[in-house]
Amino acid sequence: MRSARRRISRILSAALLICLLTLITLNLPFYAGSTLGPTLSWRLEGARLNIVRRPSQNPEHFYVAINSEPLRWNFAAHYYSTSDWFIRIPLWMPLVAVATCVIFSWWPAPRRLDPLRCSRCNYSLVDLTPGTPCPECGKKP
Ligand SMILES: [Zn+2]
Repeated sequence: MRSARRRISRILSAALLICLLTLITLNLPFYAGSTLGPTLSWRLEGARLNIVRRPSQNPEHFYVAINSEPLRWNFAAHYYSTSDWFIRIPLWMPLVAVATCVIFSWWPAPRRLDPLRCSRCNYSLVDLTPGTPCPECGKKP
């Protein structure tokens, strides 16, 4: 149960990391975006996700276009009113969070000390009188 959850988190975090790295790499030559309803739009450009709400916007279906801008790393946001704001989230921010999850989920788990197994050779010490040396390697408890 515990190892299954650990395996899922390993696979998910690694897949997310690959997706983010792919997005950032694809954002070098391309940008993409669309409008989400009459006032909201998004655009992935220069390794930043721009979400913009304006009182009125020209409707745009999903588009991909050639990018000539460099990658941008800074966070930016501005709030004018509830119907007029923008936020620009650089992709390195979720990348750092996901990379941290990858490191933690792939880090080898510490070997738990089982009092019923020899700490040197892992031989089962069940049914032995406590204090008896390990019959396999002779290590005293
Ligand atoms: Zn032993």
